[in-house]
Amino acid sequence: MLLRIFLFLACMALVVLGAEDFYKLLGIKKDASEREIKKAYRKLSKTYHPDKNPGDSTAHDKFVAVAEAYEVLIDEETRRIYDQYGHDGIEQHKRGGGQRGQHHDPFDLFSRFFGGSGHFGHGGGGQRQGPNMEVRVAVPLRDFYNGRSTEFTIEKQAICSACEGTGSEDGHVETCNQCGGRGARIQRQQLAPGLFQQVQVACDKCAGKGKIIKKPCPVCGGSRVVREPETHELHVEKGMPKGVQITYENEADESPDYVAGNLIVHLVETEPALGTLEHERTDGTFFRRRGKDLFWREVLSLREAWMGDWTRNITHLDGHIVQLSRKRGEVVQPNTIEILKDEGMPIWYQHLPEGTHDELFGELHVEYVVVLPDQMDKPMEKDFWGVWEKYRKKQGVQLDKENGRPEGPIPMPSGVHDEL
Ligand SMILES: [Zn+2]
Ligand SMILES: [Zn+2]
Repeated sequence: MLLRIFLFLACMALVVLGAEDFYKLLGIKKDASEREIKKAYRKLSKTYHPDKNPGDSTAHDKFVAVAEAYEVLIDEETRRIYDQYGHDGIEQHKRGGGQRGQHHDPFDLFSRFFGGSGHFGHGGGGQRQGPNMEVRVAVPLRDFYNGRSTEFTIEKQAICSACEGTGSEDGHVETCNQCGGRGARIQRQQLAPGLFQQVQVACDKCAGKGKIIKKPCPVCGGSRVVREPETHELHVEKGMPKGVQITYENEADESPDYVAGNLIVHLVETEPALGTLEHERTDGTFFRRRGKDLFWREVLSLREAWMGDWTRNITHLDGHIVQLSRKRGEVVQPNTIEILKDEGMPIWYQHLPEGTHDELFGELHVEYVVVLPDQMDKPMEKDFWGVWEKYRKKQGVQLDKENGRPEGPIPMPSGVHDEL
């Protein structure tokens, strides 16, 4: 008897273990919105799809479970039952003939999201895959430096959720009886007496579709698809190269006729501009990037370039300060480039040498530009002139002479033709 009770308990435990919490399964919170539920389903159903995990029964079970969790949580009534009574409540609801608790085939559900017959174009199924979609997304250099998770929204063609891609309000779709569903019929044309030609023409009854819908879906007007905005997460990784391509599998335009192609994002850099927030107003905003290195121009006055004794605090893209300075007497020639190690871009993890786990950085190249004063007030000009005159006579250098230049013009020989 005791053993029986034990076995019974063990079975109960198995049942409980077998049915994973729907929210946990989808990785969402209890108060997740409809949008979040859909997003979770989109992501997980692609991950666990049997076409992507051939022979993996755990993935297959997950794929089925994710579909079940989605269907329960997306429906207000069943979600309420689940929240209150859990899996048992849902089972009872199903047994009680609760219409809306009915499960779709998980592949059907998948095809309502991604089109086609619920299989991927590649791998199994041999299903046609739709065209890829390419978009450019621009983020500031700051995001390439610091890394950032953000979102972007595109408009795309999506399967109409009102009619689940049938185009029919009541779900009824009839095969056209005139063309037998082929969408075309063969017509015989007489070209000359006794000479006929067969041509294929689109069926006029179904306009070449092969199907007839008596009550078109009011949302999509029977076209089975709608245009709608979709928001995607974008993870800009530290040091990602400009123009890097990020692929979102099966997120291009959807159609019931094919599996959605891939959405390909080309990540580019925005024109530098100061933002309104403090962290968007750094000097680094105007760094220029070439590969893993950054470039910056620093302006020095004549006095600074010549006499030294100056300090500059440059705010880098993450707000840290890069200090440049010269002591008194240290000269900086115009257009000198100073190279600061490890102040360039972080090196993208995919470009790190194998076995490296530390963060590595490129260089910051600082070019010094020297500006001379346009104007001086009279007394100042006089003072400087006096100083110059004094030292010019003592140890001045005449560059013309040093370079071996003549003092006057050199006459050119004229009118003489050398014989070759
Ligand atoms: Zn529709
Ligand atoms: Zn027809």
